[in-house]
Amino acid sequence: MNISNNFKSGRHFLQIPGPTNIPDRVLRAMDYPIIDHRGPEFSDMAKNILENIKMLFKTKEPVIIYPASGTGAWESAIVNTLNEGDKVLMFETGHFSSLWLEIAKKFKLEVDFVDGDWRTGVDPKIVEQKLFEDKEKKIKAIFVVHNETSTGVTSRIPEIRKAIDNAKHSCLFFVDTISSLGSMDYKHDDWGVDVTIGGSQKGLLLPPGLSFNAISSKAIEAYKKSKLSKSYWDWKPMIDNNKNGFFPYTPATNLLYGLNEALKMLFEEGLENVFKRHERLAEATRMAVNGWGLEILCKNKNEYSNSLTAVLVPKNCNADDLRKIILDNYNMSLGTGLSKMKGKIFRIGHLGNFNELMLAGTLAGVEMGLKISKIPYKSGGIMSALNYLSK
Ligand SMILES: *Cc1c(COP(=O)(O)O)cnc(C)c1O
Repeated sequence: MNISNNFKSGRHFLQIPGPTNIPDRVLRAMDYPIIDHRGPEFSDMAKNILENIKMLFKTKEPVIIYPASGTGAWESAIVNTLNEGDKVLMFETGHFSSLWLEIAKKFKLEVDFVDGDWRTGVDPKIVEQKLFEDKEKKIKAIFVVHNETSTGVTSRIPEIRKAIDNAKHSCLFFVDTISSLGSMDYKHDDWGVDVTIGGSQKGLLLPPGLSFNAISSKAIEAYKKSKLSKSYWDWKPMIDNNKNGFFPYTPATNLLYGLNEALKMLFEEGLENVFKRHERLAEATRMAVNGWGLEILCKNKNEYSNSLTAVLVPKNCNADDLRKIILDNYNMSLGTGLSKMKGKIFRIGHLGNFNELMLAGTLAGVEMGLKISKIPYKSGGIMSALNYLSK
């Protein structure tokens, strides 16, 4: 027998901002035999899920479920509503908004990409100004990432909605809520969003593999005029089949078992309590970061993310060296800095299936890692978090 000596006892701490830790209840629910996806048992389950998931998006309109990663649902929003050459407004909030831009370019949309510093959210004033100046109503859609997972910065969706209304503009409003849905409040209908993009693996207690489009009736009107090629992503066969609890192609049966259970768990805790828990754990994390004397990447307090915190390390230090120390010594994974943030930040995921003691362990791992590393910091920062959590 060949035995390597690298077994690590105890549970790995997966504190990246997605994919996140899956609750045992969801794992057990997925451990169930495949059923006929054209049979009555499946149809009952799917109808239930398709109805219940609306509560998560806070919508009365249809929610489409794809067996795909979030990137697919980004593409789907575009190909179902727009046409080649359409002018659209996008914002550089971080890595994910930049990836969405690349998809828009591939479908030959004419993108006005507003520069950003990766430390602030979309400025509603700029939205209002850009739309106000567009007298000929050439802009067909605006794209916003609600929670930039690469930076821990949120954009204020209700204020952006208001800016669109103030400019009396009729453009479509697309919002990516992949890493905020089920962690921070989100209101598809009240906020007048036309296509909301969601994914399974961040706050939704699920593995990667499902993604969502919540759509408005205005988006369905746009669908009728959209000539971009679509086949797999086409909304119509989905909506038609979903009415009877079926899908136009093989659904991800076991992930749907998981989704069914995850929705139950979120509703048992109560969505508003889920959001409060995330807010509390996020606030405690920020207190620890301040206690260590390190800087939070997000500049504005009213744009803090409650699903993750991105922490800047001082110049001449490398955040990835710290991440390696923490992984090697304490078996914990933290999120790396993406593209231009590489080495400059590390990201603490505090979303999904998560509680006080998991956060205490996470923060202890960071503080012990800081001690081993050569990064200057104030020891004991974790105490501000623990004091806050025990109040
Ligand atoms: C993770 C993420 C994506 C990408 O989703 P994939 O499932 O990796 O395709 C898009 N947007 C945001 C905000 C994300 O956090």
